[in-house]
Amino acid sequence: MWYATPSVTRAIHHRYVDPLAQIWLDAAARVGLRVVRADDAYASSDGAGTLTIGGDASLDPDDSLAQMIFHELCHSLVQGEDNLRVPDWGLDNETDRDAWREHGCLRLQATLAGRHGLRRFFAPTTDYRGDFWDHLPADPLADRGDPSVQLAIAGLRRVAHPPWAPAVEDALARTAALAAAVAAAPAPGAAHVAVDGLPSLWDQLDPPPPPHPTGLPASPLAAVDDRRCGGCAWRFEGGPGRRAERCRQADNARVDPAWPGCERWEPALDCQTCGACCRAAYHSVEVSRRDPAVRARPDYVVDRGTYLEIRRAGDRCAALGGGEVVTGADGARTTTRYACAIYDDRPRTCRDFTLGSAHCLTARRRVGLSG
Ligand code: SF4
Ligand code: SF4
Repeated sequence: MWYATPSVTRAIHHRYVDPLAQIWLDAAARVGLRVVRADDAYASSDGAGTLTIGGDASLDPDDSLAQMIFHELCHSLVQGEDNLRVPDWGLDNETDRDAWREHGCLRLQATLAGRHGLRRFFAPTTDYRGDFWDHLPADPLADRGDPSVQLAIAGLRRVAHPPWAPAVEDALARTAALAAAVAAAPAPGAAHVAVDGLPSLWDQLDPPPPPHPTGLPASPLAAVDDRRCGGCAWRFEGGPGRRAERCRQADNARVDPAWPGCERWEPALDCQTCGACCRAAYHSVEVSRRDPAVRARPDYVVDRGTYLEIRRAGDRCAALGGGEVVTGADGARTTTRYACAIYDDRPRTCRDFTLGSAHCLTARRRVGLSG
């Protein structure tokens, strides 16, 4: 390419790229996506490996190519491997049908960015900014009854696996390192000012949480709501004499109840907002022929010849009620509470299933309620 100025004509071999943009262009490439800019697009994926993002003139002053790429990668994480090669990740952008999936994407974006103190810096700038993002609670994953939270949790699990790993986490860490470098100049704590007089977006940074002692993802929320390992659903007492405090999420490693809660922290579990072990997490509830439930509720027992089991209704136990998903006027979804129709007569298998046990965590992970 040749460029001419009044005084000189020379060959141009490189283009200056904003360092933050370069970090995220690299991340997209590592995930298998080529980014192109076009003035007639805002953001779209063609399902064949090309991500088209609007030109700089189409972005708001507080937006960036980096945020746009990060947001699209969050969409891909929420939609999963099967939708990587589907246009726009399989989302319907014309109607509100997939508003709850956008919510899931934004919950994931807030969580991932929050790991590095970048939640305010990497805020989206679409209509969802005022309608949804700005109203997100400090913990975007707190309401496990909202299916969009379960989408975000599924995205969090995927980010640790290819093709997203290690690209997305690397890019976030490099962004945080760049932010630290920018924050150090011109003087620590001084406000930066953009050329048009607006305060710089680089001032929208928070201190990243220190690494968690267990190696689990750290959470910035311990500073907000004082969550600690001692109040977490996954802490239990185990080991010789059952006196050691341990964590199910950290492969039963010892924890100190005073440690700040990690990203997997959950408050006391509520089976009526969960129902995981009675749903798709497990395929069968086997019953002994001597179990009193066989006499008490023969209408729920099926004889398979070599064993008995409780009847199924689709992918759940036939005795389980509730769990209907209700969509509100704003596109947000909630789930009605679960209840067991034969709770007082439930078989031994169910009575022995312990809330907060390893099987409970497995069940919640399988249905997307826990990370
Ligand atoms: S899952 Fe809970 S107990 Fe385990 S490290 Fe995280 S906050 Fe602590
Ligand atoms: S025991 Fe665990 S998995 Fe089963 S409903 Fe209760 S919280 Fe959910």
